[in-house]
Amino acid sequence: MAPQKRSFFWFRRDLRLEDNAGLYHALKESESPVIPVFIFDANILDELKPDDPRVTFIYQEIESLQRQLGKLGSGLRVEYGKPVDVWESLIGSGPLESVFLNRDYEPYAKERDGSVKKLVEDKGGQFRAFKDHVIFEAGEVLKDDGDPYTVFTPYKRKWLEKLHSRSSGDELFYLKSYPTEDYFQNLNQENSDLAKLEEMGFEKASWDFPERELESDTVKTYAKNRDFPGRDGTTRLGLHLRFGTISIRRLANKTRQLSETFLSELIWRDFYSQILACFPHVVDGPFREKYAQIPWRDDDEGFEKWCQGKTGYPLVDAGMRQLNQTGYMHNRVRMVTASFLTKHLLINWQRGEAYFAEKLLDYDLASNNGGWQWAAGCGTDAAPYFRIFNPTSQLQKFDPDRSYVKEWIPELDSEDYPDPMVEHKQARERCLSVFKKALS
Ligand SMILES: Cc1cc2nc3c(=O)[nH]c(=O)nc-3n(C[C@H](O)[C@H](O)[C@H](O)COP(=O)(O)OP(=O)(O)OC[C@H]3O[C@@H](n4cnc5c(N)ncnc54)[C@H](O)[C@@H]3O)c2cc1C
Repeated sequence: MAPQKRSFFWFRRDLRLEDNAGLYHALKESESPVIPVFIFDANILDELKPDDPRVTFIYQEIESLQRQLGKLGSGLRVEYGKPVDVWESLIGSGPLESVFLNRDYEPYAKERDGSVKKLVEDKGGQFRAFKDHVIFEAGEVLKDDGDPYTVFTPYKRKWLEKLHSRSSGDELFYLKSYPTEDYFQNLNQENSDLAKLEEMGFEKASWDFPERELESDTVKTYAKNRDFPGRDGTTRLGLHLRFGTISIRRLANKTRQLSETFLSELIWRDFYSQILACFPHVVDGPFREKYAQIPWRDDDEGFEKWCQGKTGYPLVDAGMRQLNQTGYMHNRVRMVTASFLTKHLLINWQRGEAYFAEKLLDYDLASNNGGWQWAAGCGTDAAPYFRIFNPTSQLQKFDPDRSYVKEWIPELDSEDYPDPMVEHKQARERCLSVFKKALS
């Protein structure tokens, strides 16, 4: 008897069984039983520290997927290595039907997936990729002339138009769930073991990861509270959206009638994802190329103070300490700290971007790069360079009772707290003159 063909589903930024587009197509359309696979990608992991909490988070989610699949009589094949090598050995010389997956829009991922596609096709299989990570991907929301949008407000208008363009009754086509559970019987019925994290050279971090549960009250009061870092006013779902442990479609569906402001933030996520996909040069430099002329200051000591939260500006320092201790920073404070580094200290935004990339649990290349370029003034939709956040008035406005800064800076009102490392007015004038000269 000829050996049976095999199909695979490759989990990446979509670590869930429910409402998973690629998994749904795999289970529904593959003639062969579907083998679920996860690869700890050595190309990515080798760059990380052994105790990086994000690896622990992924590992926990993999364990949970393993348990869920085990209950269905199946199991997750978990591999560690360079993805192309892993696929080479997984596929081997046996007959192959398809490899299914959801698309990832980062440049490294696109290149990696291109190589795996070639391998799969060379082995006679089909490589089938789906949209899952965003509601609209690059190419779906375009200007009338077919170009991608680079300004948020008209993008958002068109995005909403498209969202409502297909519906039946109350149900919006683009937010429909994929009922994977209807096809679980097509999972491969074979269990597999999960290697220990330590065997891959990592340590289990003890870390409080944010819950994946959505508090609907947070969304209802989002517009009122979201700018105040001392209030529990945002969802903290960034990490779960990053790794797909929740579905963006379900989240948008649950919240779209509760808060327009919240939906708008989810649209920002799609916006930056399509910017990265259409303008990959943003990974290595400013979106507006003119800004490559800015003579950033080479100030290691200043950068170190910023990293450690010792600038003498409480809102900046509280934000950096929150980031260092928890892997999270409130959005308003991300804007203020990023502005401070690039405008007050005139330090290259790419150094700040890299620091956030190392520390943020919800780190996402597209949104982080977009946020940093916005703050530095060199990105899409950029605030003009002469709009410089005043970290003191931001504190008075958004943390008026100082509850946030007191939480993160115990020595705030003592002599141990440093004086401001730069004087706001002077720093502002220096920034204006440097930017003006470089851009004229
Ligand atoms: C300098 C800078 C760096 C940033 N880096 C990242 C990053 O690495 N990863 C990341 O997900 N977001 C990033 N953001 C955007 C934003 O700060 C975070 O998404 C948000 O603070 C996460 O907290 P939350 O989950 O409680 O968000 P909520 O306010 O509850 O929003 C819900 C979700 O909407 C999305 N979202 C909200 N605001 C934005 C935004 N401005 N841009 C894109 N998506 C948004 C996120 O997925 C977020 O989890 C950055 C912003 C700035 C200014």
